[in-house]
Amino acid sequence: MSNTELPKTVDPYRLAEQKTELEGFIPLHALARFLECTLPQEASSGDAVCHVKLKFDQDGERRRLVEGELGAEVVLECQRCMQPMSATLTSQFRLGFVTSDKQAQQLPKDLEPYLAEDFSANLWTLIEDELILVVPPFPKHEREECPASAALEELEPDSSAPATEEPRDNPFSALAGLKTKKH
Ligand SMILES: [Zn+2]
Repeated sequence: MSNTELPKTVDPYRLAEQKTELEGFIPLHALARFLECTLPQEASSGDAVCHVKLKFDQDGERRRLVEGELGAEVVLECQRCMQPMSATLTSQFRLGFVTSDKQAQQLPKDLEPYLAEDFSANLWTLIEDELILVVPPFPKHEREECPASAALEELEPDSSAPATEEPRDNPFSALAGLKTKKH
């Protein structure tokens, strides 16, 4: 893992032409929008970071793109017990840099458009967007690690047991029967 802070503002088009590879970290406390999706880090982990690897490139059609991966240790709120839980977020992504919506529409399907006008892109914002995408909407502890699991056992005795639900009468099937009888 690199110990360098990832540069914030770059010219992605120049980096793509030079096929630049960047590796570095972003301090999570600098990513305010992302922090809203997580729980406050413990004081001891105030220097939590997101590790990032980026490979700028251009394809055969001279489209400028970046392939990247990220990883971050974060604290989320378990949606079962509402207690903090640590989670590792990872993501791999492939973005095509565009200067207009029209260009964005012309990108092949495997490239996500990233609007970078004025030959400038904020890599921290770019990574923050990717991080937010991989925050699980309903994070939960593993069942055996969740403080709420004892209470849960009472509510949902054994979810692995086969459902023994009686086939229920569909109230609409009677109506459907009536309808067809009319004809
Ligand atoms: Zn939990």
